[in-house]
Amino acid sequence: MILSERRVTLKSRRQVELMRRAGRLVADVLDRVGDEIRPGITTGDLDRIAEEMIRRSGGIPSFIGVAGAGGPYRHSICVSIDDEVVHGIPGRRRIEAGQVVSIDAGAIVEGWHGDAARTFIVGDAPVRVRELVDETRRGMFAGIAAARAGNTIGDIAAAVEAVALEHGYGVLRDYGGHGIGSEMHEEPFVPNFRGAGRGRKLEPGMCLAIEPMFTLGGPEVRVRDDGWTVATADGSLAAHWEHTIAILAEGTEILTVNDRGERLSGEAGV
Ligand code: MG
Repeated sequence: MILSERRVTLKSRRQVELMRRAGRLVADVLDRVGDEIRPGITTGDLDRIAEEMIRRSGGIPSFIGVAGAGGPYRHSICVSIDDEVVHGIPGRRRIEAGQVVSIDAGAIVEGWHGDAARTFIVGDAPVRVRELVDETRRGMFAGIAAARAGNTIGDIAAAVEAVALEHGYGVLRDYGGHGIGSEMHEEPFVPNFRGAGRGRKLEPGMCLAIEPMFTLGGPEVRVRDDGWTVATADGSLAAHWEHTIAILAEGTEILTVNDRGERLSGEAGV
C-alpha cells in the first residue's frame, strides 16, 4: 500500500484550525475510552461510548463506512487486543486484566479529520510488555520530531525505526502513517522503516498521521477471517500509537491533543 505521491495536498491556516478541532475531539474520546477500559467492559461498550461522544460534540465518526475486505466498517473505533495490531472490530468480547488494548479513533469536524491511537495496559503486565508500549509511543514522538519542513518522509521513517531497532521489535511493513485532511487517508504513505527511499520533501501545510506499530516478535501479520483484524503472524504482542500532526512554517504541531494533556504511561484505569 505504498501510495503514489501525486495528490499530496497542503492545508491552509483555516483548514489546519478545523483539523485542530477534530484532533481535540479525538483526544477527548481517547481520554474517555481510556478511563473506561477495565476488566469486564466489552469492546462494543467502548465503541458506543466513543460514538456517542463524537456525535454529541457535533462530529462524525470517520471510521464508519470505510471500505475493506471485510465489508464497510461499522464502528467508531478499532479495539485491537494483545496480538492484534490494528483494525480490531468492537463487539461482545470482554476486556480482561493484563491485556494490551490498542484504541484507534477518528472524527470529522466540519469536513476535516483527526486520527489518533493509544495502547493501554489493563492493570499489570511484565516489564517487557510495558516497555513495548512505552517505546512504541517514543517511536511515534521520534517520528514527529523528524517531521519538519525541509526533512523528508524517509527521515520520519528512519527516526521511528531507530527506536524499534534499539529493542529488536518487529515493525509492520505494509501498514503505516498517511497524509490526512478532508479525507482520512491521503497521500503520502508514511512508512515506519527505511528502504522506501527518502521520499517526498516535507513542506508547511502538510498534515500527516504518524503511527508506529511495533511487535515483540516479527513484522509479519495476517488479516483474520473477519477481513479487518490485523494480527501478528507469530502471535506476539503488539502496540500502536498515532497522532495527527501539521507541519507549519513555525514548527510542527500535534493536532490530536486537548488541554488535559496526554497520560504518559498509556496505563488504563482498573
Ligand atoms: Mg491512521
